[in-house]
Amino acid sequence: MGMEADMDVLVVGAGPTGLLLANELQLAGASALVLERLPQRTGQSKALNLQPRTAEILQLRGWLERVMSRAVTTVPGGHFAGLPLDYGVFDTPFPYQVGIPQARVEESLEDRLAEEGVPVLRGHELVDFEQDSDGVTATVAGPAGQRRLRARYLVGADGGRSTVRHLLKAAFPGRDGRVSMVVADIVLDGASELSDEWRLPSLEPGDNGLFFLLSLGDGVYRVLFGGPRQQELDRSAPVTEDEVRAALRPHHGGRLRLREVRWASRFTDASRQAERYRDGRVLLAGDAAHIHLPAGGQGLNLGMQDAFNLGWKLAAQIQGRASEGLLDTYHAERHPVGAMVLENTRAQGVLLVTDPDVLALRATMAELLTLPEANRRIAGMISGLGIRYEMPGSPTHPLLGARLPGIELPTGRGLLLESAAHPSLTAALAPWADRVDRAPTPFPDAQAVLVRPDGYVCWVGRSDDAHLSTALHRWFGAPSGTETQ
Ligand SMILES: Cc1cc2nc3c(=O)[nH]c(=O)nc-3n(C[C@H](O)[C@H](O)[C@H](O)COP(=O)(O)OP(=O)(O)OC[C@H]3O[C@@H](n4cnc5c(N)ncnc54)[C@H](O)[C@@H]3O)c2cc1C
Repeated sequence: MGMEADMDVLVVGAGPTGLLLANELQLAGASALVLERLPQRTGQSKALNLQPRTAEILQLRGWLERVMSRAVTTVPGGHFAGLPLDYGVFDTPFPYQVGIPQARVEESLEDRLAEEGVPVLRGHELVDFEQDSDGVTATVAGPAGQRRLRARYLVGADGGRSTVRHLLKAAFPGRDGRVSMVVADIVLDGASELSDEWRLPSLEPGDNGLFFLLSLGDGVYRVLFGGPRQQELDRSAPVTEDEVRAALRPHHGGRLRLREVRWASRFTDASRQAERYRDGRVLLAGDAAHIHLPAGGQGLNLGMQDAFNLGWKLAAQIQGRASEGLLDTYHAERHPVGAMVLENTRAQGVLLVTDPDVLALRATMAELLTLPEANRRIAGMISGLGIRYEMPGSPTHPLLGARLPGIELPTGRGLLLESAAHPSLTAALAPWADRVDRAPTPFPDAQAVLVRPDGYVCWVGRSDDAHLSTALHRWFGAPSGTETQ
C-alpha cells in the first residue's frame, strides 16, 4: 500500500487492557497511540481487585508501587462462587488480592503513559478500518470530524461490545446472558451496622436472588443484586433508585437509607470467546476477546495478562526480530486461559442459582475445597498463579512454562538465571546479549533457567544443553552478529 505508518500500534480502548498494552509497547521500544471513545475518565469501577498474578506482573516491571499507592486494602485469599480459596499455599509475594477500584488501576497506568509521552487520544472513536499486507488504516471520529490513521498493527482492547471484533466479523461463539443483574455504587445513611472492611462477598443464593453489599470506604458501598424483578426488566432500562431500594429492603429492612446512587449498570452472565485472537495485523485482547460472568474477580486480571503476553511479542514482530510464529503464540497461549475462565465462571454461575439442590452442590464443593489439592487447582485458576504455557522443544521440567515469582524484569528483556558463569552458556547467549540479561539462579536443582520478558520460564537446562540456542531463537529471534555462532 506504501502509505507511511503514523505509529507502530494503534490500541483501541483505554481500559486496563489497552493501557497496560501501551505501557508494554513503550517499554519494548514500539510506538503506540491509544484511542478512547470517552472524552474523559468516568472514575467508575467495575472491578475492585488485582489477583496475585496481576500484582506479580506489575512488580516484574517495577510498576506495582505506583498502583499500590492507590489501593484501599488487601483481601486474604480468593473465592469461587463465594466459597473461600486459600492463596497461602503458593510461592508468591502476594498470597492475597489487592483491593483497588478499576478506575485507580487505569489512572496509574495512564499517568505512566503521560510521563513517557505515549498519547491517549480521548473523545476519539474507531469507526472503521481496513488492513493490507503492511499495515492497517483506521477511520477515527473525533470532535473535529473524521480522520484516518495508519499503523502497522491494530489491537482491539475496546471491551465486550468491541467495534474491532464486529468490524473483523470475528466468530464469537458462546451463549447470550440468561440472568440479568445490577451493579451500583451507592451512598447509605444508617450503615453503621455494616462492616467497613473490604471482605469476600458472601455470595449466597437466596430467596431474592443474588445479593451482596461491600463497603468501598468514605460511606460508599458497592451493591450487586439480581432477583426476579431484574429478570423482568429490559436490559437497557436505566437502574432506578427505587429498584436499588427494593433490593436492599429484604436484607437490611428499613435500617439502611439510600442517599445517592453514584452510578449503576446492568450486566449478565453472557459467555462468549473470540475464535481467533489474531486476524492478520489485527489482534483482540481483554473483554474484546472474551466475556463472562464477573465471578471470582477475574475479567480485568485476564485482560491485563493478555496485554502482558502480547506486548513484547508484538514489539519484537514490529522491530523485525521475532522468530516465525512468535506472534501466533499469543493466541495459542491466551485462548486456552480465556476458555478456562469462561468454563469456571459458568460453573460458578450454576453455584449461585437459587435452588435447594444447588445448595447441596455448594456444600459438596465447599467440602472438596478443603482438600489441599482441590484448593490448589481452583485457586491456581482464579489467582492466575496456576497458569502454565506449553513450551515446545525443551525437556520437561516442573518449572518449564510456569511463572517465576519474585524476580524483576524492569527492562522488559529476557533473563538467564545461571548457577555460575559457564563458558558454554556465555558463548550460547552472546548473540542475544542485547535481548537477554543474566543473573544468579535461585534454583539448586536447575543449573540454568531462561525467563521470557513476561516472567514465564521457556527453558531449563544444564550448561551443556544444546536446546538453549533453540529456545533463544524461538523466543528472542534471530541471533545478532556472528562472532560466537
Ligand atoms: C459488575 C462487574 C463487576 C466486575 N468485577 C470485576 C472484578 O472484581 N475483578 C475483575 O478482575 N474483573 C471484574 N469485572 C470485569 C472487568 O471490569 C473487565 O473485564 C475489564 O473492564 C476489561 O477491561 P478491558 O480494558 O478489556 O475493557 P474495558 O474496561 O471495557 O475498556 C474498553 C475501553 O474501550 C473504549 N472503546 C470501546 N469502543 C471503542 C471505540 N470504537 N473506539 C475507541 N474506544 C472504544 C471504551 O470506552 C472503554 O474505555 C467486572 C465486570 C462487571 C460488569
